[in-house]
Amino acid sequence: MRAKDTLHWIPADSGLRLGDSPLEFIRQLPGPGAIWLEGEERDRTRALCTLLHGNEPSGASAIWHFLRRGLKPHTNALFIIASVQAALTAPVFSHRMLPEHRDLNRCFRPPFDDSRGQLAQQILQVISRHQPEALLDIHNTSGSGPAFGVSINGDERHRALASLFTNDLIVTDLRLGALMELSDDLQPTVTIECGGSQDPASDLVAREGLYRFLCSDSVLHSGAADSVTCYHNPLRLELAEGTRLRYSTAPDADADADLVMRSDAEALNYGTTSAQEPIAALGPQGLSKLRVMGPAGALPVEHYFEARNGLLYSRQPMRLFMVTTRLEIALSDCLFYFMG
Ligand SMILES: [Zn+2]
Repeated sequence: MRAKDTLHWIPADSGLRLGDSPLEFIRQLPGPGAIWLEGEERDRTRALCTLLHGNEPSGASAIWHFLRRGLKPHTNALFIIASVQAALTAPVFSHRMLPEHRDLNRCFRPPFDDSRGQLAQQILQVISRHQPEALLDIHNTSGSGPAFGVSINGDERHRALASLFTNDLIVTDLRLGALMELSDDLQPTVTIECGGSQDPASDLVAREGLYRFLCSDSVLHSGAADSVTCYHNPLRLELAEGTRLRYSTAPDADADADLVMRSDAEALNYGTTSAQEPIAALGPQGLSKLRVMGPAGALPVEHYFEARNGLLYSRQPMRLFMVTTRLEIALSDCLFYFMG
């Protein structure tokens, strides 16, 4: 492997140069880096991985802020900054991965036989060598939105970790080869989606959560775990390609749209909609542009939704979250998640 593909071991006190910005800091790394910072308690370690996706900089920015403050963490800290090359490829912070590469956060299971697989394996080796008591993986979402956690386990330890950043934890049975899927075998691991990569609020969420993660005495047992709501295997409402979506203050059937959402649809977030309350207005093609996706693939839309008098209703009371009023996100990702 070339140097820029190999994980470099970098003790923070070995002359690590931070530069004047997170970007300068990343530019000065020799490639993917495992940065080691000694803590007050030297027999305990917490680990944080970030930049698995090169266009999601909030975690690396939070590490830069922490190092700049010159603080000594409560336990040792192991920071892994992964897709340095993708992040620095112009335009910077715009490539999730390089075109010739696999998505690194799908490579944490065998076979490890290409360059991304080998990097993933090196990351796993450095983590297992230091046996951290907890591991976080910090990401940004593609669109704007509130922070949430994702994990394969919703027990107190995982909720306590999520509570450092957010009160919402998605617990999924989906297995894709993501880093957080190792949670059962090794240390409790939570993915934190700290909001959109363009939102200044995301950097703040990451920075404050990282500070709590590194400077608290205990991060696996905390009363704050009780304030975290778990959403088990939520379903996604997606829109077919080419759907004509509109937002309006007074949604009404519209011959020129397939779906008209309320402009204040974000108010539906975390609430329960009744089967009597319309979610949106539908176009002439009714439900045909809607897709319901679960962990195992597409599900019949009619099981969950129905059209009455040109309006979209849920069949049963339904809890919605991550409802977006951003057109491009609704079209490219999903309109919302729901518990069916
Ligand atoms: Zn990501």
